[in-house]
Amino acid sequence: MENRQSWTLWFIGLHGSGKTTISSRIADILRKKGMEIVLLDGDEVRKSISSDLGYSLEDRNIHMQRVADLCSRLNNEGKMVIAAVASPTEKSRDYAKKAIKNFFTVYVKCPLEICEKRDVKGHYKKARLGEKGFEHFLGIGIRFEEPKNPDIVLETSKYAVEECVGVLLGKMKERNILR
Ligand code: ADP
Repeated sequence: MENRQSWTLWFIGLHGSGKTTISSRIADILRKKGMEIVLLDGDEVRKSISSDLGYSLEDRNIHMQRVADLCSRLNNEGKMVIAAVASPTEKSRDYAKKAIKNFFTVYVKCPLEICEKRDVKGHYKKARLGEKGFEHFLGIGIRFEEPKNPDIVLETSKYAVEECVGVLLGKMKERNILR
């Protein structure tokens, strides 16, 4: 296959907004098309490259820089990367934008109240109760900065998973990321 895969799709959003759900669905679809995809999911990648870091804003920014550098290296080897990391600050996104040549940002938008209601992992409850280790929980202990110019916004409180996936695939074709 011709090498057209060196893009990073960078998913931004609160916990429970739908980053993992949509990114893994997109990865499945693209793999079925024969594309080689590296899927970097926030918590997993943290364990491997940032196990020395915590969740303060400073540590999160360092973690995001490491993820961005990793994406860039994988892209340079011709691999398409899907990074489902919360990326709460404009600073971290600006760094990623500079580090990654073919950078496409997906803002998975969902109101905090709805993410909290979904509470997929039960972490919001722990953060509200002030449990140890959850002091810097995104949206509660740490402010989430809305991305200023994402390439696409997927509103997961308004549209179903498959609709969001369809809109994203359409945009990727429009931008020539996919044929
Ligand atoms: P994140 O990775 O952002 O923390 P998850 O993907 O783990 O979020 O969780 C999102 C939750 O919201 C899942 O339970 C998913 O089924 C649900 N959900 C409802 N509507 C959507 C949608 N349109 N897109 C993505 N997830 C959705």
